[in-house]
Amino acid sequence: MSKRVVVVGGGVVGACSAYYLARAGFAVTVLDRGRFGAGCSHANCGYVCPSHVLPLATPGAVRSTLKTLLARNSPLKVRPRTVLANLGWFRGFARRCNARDMMAAGRAIQTLLNSSRLLFDELIAAERVECEWEAKGLLFVFLTPKHFEHYAHTDELLAREFAMPARRLDSAELAALEPALNPGMAGGYLYESDAHLRPDRLMAELRRVLTGLGVEVRENAEATGFARAGVRATAVRTPAGDVPADHVVVATGAWTPLLNKELGCRVPIQPGKGYSMTMPRPKLCPTYPLIFEEHRVAVTPFASGYRLGSTMEFAGYDDSMNRSRLSILTDAAKIYLREPLAGPVQEEWWGWRPMTFDGLPVIDRSPAAENVVIAAGHNMLGLSMATATGKLVAEMLGGSKPHIDPSPYSLARFGR
Ligand SMILES: Cc1cc2nc3c(=O)[nH]c(=O)nc-3n(C[C@H](O)[C@H](O)[C@H](O)COP(=O)(O)OP(=O)(O)OC[C@H]3O[C@@H](n4cnc5c(N)ncnc54)[C@H](O)[C@@H]3O)c2cc1C
Repeated sequence: MSKRVVVVGGGVVGACSAYYLARAGFAVTVLDRGRFGAGCSHANCGYVCPSHVLPLATPGAVRSTLKTLLARNSPLKVRPRTVLANLGWFRGFARRCNARDMMAAGRAIQTLLNSSRLLFDELIAAERVECEWEAKGLLFVFLTPKHFEHYAHTDELLAREFAMPARRLDSAELAALEPALNPGMAGGYLYESDAHLRPDRLMAELRRVLTGLGVEVRENAEATGFARAGVRATAVRTPAGDVPADHVVVATGAWTPLLNKELGCRVPIQPGKGYSMTMPRPKLCPTYPLIFEEHRVAVTPFASGYRLGSTMEFAGYDDSMNRSRLSILTDAAKIYLREPLAGPVQEEWWGWRPMTFDGLPVIDRSPAAENVVIAAGHNMLGLSMATATGKLVAEMLGGSKPHIDPSPYSLARFGR
């Protein structure tokens, strides 16, 4: 009989883990406390972006974060009471805002991003996944010459240290490449190896593929803990009863710290709340996915629609829909785009990014149970890192040689 794995969490990380586990011959059940794919993986910006190697903790990030404590409505916002309630997390973040830690995190982020990008190509082709996948790159757009020139340092760093060059475009070249932009932009950088997809379509397709592989998906099934025999978990406890398991994968995104006691460690994850708005495509729809660097707003053109997204708020587990955060998205779009909006708005959404203070996920065994693997904390890049994470999880449980070095993602880096 094949070994039973219970994957807790039906987001993109849990779904990709379930996929590689099922392909490796495990009998897999996915549990989700709500609906499969309805967490942070539902309406994010859809970028699969190897260009995004740098973590949030960079030199100077403390100063810009402190400014947000006073700002009324900036794209990055930290509530003072969230800082006070989570001093350890913010101290850890502040300590990593230096060049050495940034580079180390960047290398470990890049390993997952590069592997995932290749694995997305493979998975989409092998399983005929219809998720509006387009591999045409990602265009960073700059409004002011000052910011455009300043970004040249980052571009040079990415090219030199991470072999991630971009195509630099002056104002006229940018206007010619992307006619949906307003005239007079300062310039742009095109990262040609990036791709994008429609996240809700991906999750629906992953569900189809998983079902075809015999994976059972149980919704409204919250994992509350584990039944144990010595150092092993024997079942996942849910209000509807125990689900027997030979192995467990905990892929619960921003909710992971709520299982800290069961996992025998404190996984340092904070919810980093972001928003998106989805609409039909405007008549003059951007050809490329765009990032407006100065305003930190992203635009994703899908074959079936158009999305504005981003903003980051550290406000604990606040589940309210704050409309002023949505207006940050529309206000920025009006500055950059000839036709920034289209109606009717189909979805207004927020999601909790699972933020660790060093920008890296945790992919490691639980100290409390040797057959429980945690795969959580993928920050702003959970979609972009999901396939490599899933493959690594399957390798850890199957005992095969890992395709990437798992050590940067271990709990040991937090001294536990
Ligand atoms: C506005 C925005 C834009 C973004 N854009 C991008 C992007 O372009 N590219 C990119 O790579 N990333 C992006 N991200 C980040 C990305 O969405 C996340 O990193 C990713 O979705 C995290 O996936 P996950 O599977 O870990 O978490 P989730 O998708 O949140 O899944 C976790 C699941 O676990 C379930 N769960 C929790 N606790 C339990 C429990 N006890 N029992 C059972 N189930 C449980 C939840 O219900 C949920 O379904 C964006 C995020 C936001 C908010």
